[in-house]
Amino acid sequence: MKRRDGFMTEERNTGEERHPSVRTTDYEEYKGRFTEDEAKRQASRCMDCGTPFCHVGETFGAVRIGCPVYNLIPEWNGLVEDGNFEEALHRLHQTNNFPEFTGRVCPAPCEGSCTLAIHRPAVAIKQIERTIIDIGFENGWVKARKPSVRTPFKIAVVGSGPAGLAAADQLNQAGHSVTVFEREDRAGGLLTYGIPAMKLDKKVVERRISLLEEEGIRFKLNFTVGVDETLDSLKSRFDAVILCIGATEPRKLETPVKSGLVYAMDYLTASTKHHLDGKVLLDEHDAKDKDIIVIGGGDTGADCVATALRQRCKSVVQFGKHEEAPATRSDDNMWPDTPNVFTLDYGYEEAMHQFGKDPREYLIQVERYATSDDGRLNGVWTVRNEKVRNSDGSVTFSRVDGTEQFFPADLIYVAIGFSGVEQEQVSIHQVEGKAGKIATTSYETSIPGVFAAGDARRGQSLVVWAIREGREVAKAVEERMMKGIEKTG
Ligand SMILES: Cc1cc2nc3c(=O)[nH]c(=O)nc-3n(C[C@H](O)[C@H](O)[C@H](O)COP(=O)(O)OP(=O)(O)OC[C@H]3O[C@@H](n4cnc5c(N)ncnc54)[C@H](O)[C@@H]3O)c2cc1C
Ligand code: SF4
Repeated sequence: MKRRDGFMTEERNTGEERHPSVRTTDYEEYKGRFTEDEAKRQASRCMDCGTPFCHVGETFGAVRIGCPVYNLIPEWNGLVEDGNFEEALHRLHQTNNFPEFTGRVCPAPCEGSCTLAIHRPAVAIKQIERTIIDIGFENGWVKARKPSVRTPFKIAVVGSGPAGLAAADQLNQAGHSVTVFEREDRAGGLLTYGIPAMKLDKKVVERRISLLEEEGIRFKLNFTVGVDETLDSLKSRFDAVILCIGATEPRKLETPVKSGLVYAMDYLTASTKHHLDGKVLLDEHDAKDKDIIVIGGGDTGADCVATALRQRCKSVVQFGKHEEAPATRSDDNMWPDTPNVFTLDYGYEEAMHQFGKDPREYLIQVERYATSDDGRLNGVWTVRNEKVRNSDGSVTFSRVDGTEQFFPADLIYVAIGFSGVEQEQVSIHQVEGKAGKIATTSYETSIPGVFAAGDARRGQSLVVWAIREGREVAKAVEERMMKGIEKTG
């Protein structure tokens, strides 16, 4: 590091965002990269600490710290500060197969563990990461790397989300022949049909898939394993099969309402297909001129809010079960744990510009659904809850009398999380599972030679964790194949 005082003299900046009133008129990314000068300035805030907690992605009990793929953050910060973006890119790719995805959508647990964040705003690590990779693509430094030698091993990867892509990339680079099977018409998993385009441009995903293809990975789209070919048959054709099939079974909302209620994934997928291919939207996937309620206070709900705004909804409100997060860390959420503090996500900022208020309602639950004479949903009656911490540490919610309130609603988008792998897939593939996750030992499932990784193994998580799992399952598959060679001779 050239400078020693950047952390004292420079202010944190997380990059320019397009104005909410402009960006809600399209599906272009709401944010761009840093200029080179700003990236250098922001990187100069890194203290290059002896023990960089940002880089160590581990979980200790309930405490989660650092970058799950162990990005070499202080190293590339030093290189960026020196203006050596090409070498910084090389370091970045050593640990992260797809920094263009994480640099855009990662919630950046690294920043919560940045030592500077103990007393000042953290280094803008995520935006520096994005800038390195974007500059890399702009300058043609990211090129197809075709393996020069091929082994006789053939590997099937089922599912092309970030876990499947990372596993395929690692194994292909090691010289094995990899085929990725994907049931959708496009590869990318939730990177393509899940995370909205304004957060992650689909051209960015397609660019990486094209590179992987050029490097030798085969993609078989519109191919559902379990329907078009059984897992057993796949197993007989390949040396190993890796299930990276995600965990998109929605948690169900118990309700007597028959229409007007749509699960978030169906809504977001339909909206992206409409945006990419001009596919006609069903009335229930079109928020135009409608009062919208999103049930579920998490990030998927926030993406529904942002999508409804772009479809020109009449109003949008998001219901959360929990209270508003505090402005600063609470005593049970201290550094270097991932901070649980109030943030204004892009969709909330947009809603504030459009409707003059934050769309989030806290500690609220629906008591009754209101319908018109012809049975159409036209609103909900809600009540506020109080959070009660019991003597054994558990938390319960109790109804506060006199807080009944009516909210008009033409459509309700349900974003209350995911219960795990789609149930029918677990039974079709006959792999053992627990609590919605495929059970594994060293990434191998109950069926020898069949491995699992990503959300399917750990439950609905993050892109960066999916990449880590993809890298680790690739290692496990190679170790298994090596053992096989030792045995046979
Ligand atoms: C709406 C939404 C927004 C999100 N936003 C963020 C975010 O901003 N940042 C972040 O870090 N994380 C985010 N996440 C979480 C993140 O997207 C996931 O953790 C990650 O994509 C998991 O990767 P994966 O590869 O394990 O599974 P997935 O991305 O779910 O991919 C699984 C793939 O397997 C395919 N498949 C399933 N069964 C079969 C079969 N039988 N045959 C063939 N193909 C099959 C599916 O079609 C899919 O393409 C979000 C999730 C959702 C739902
Ligand atoms: S991948 Fe996520 S956690 Fe890791 S350095 Fe990038 S933003 Fe931070």
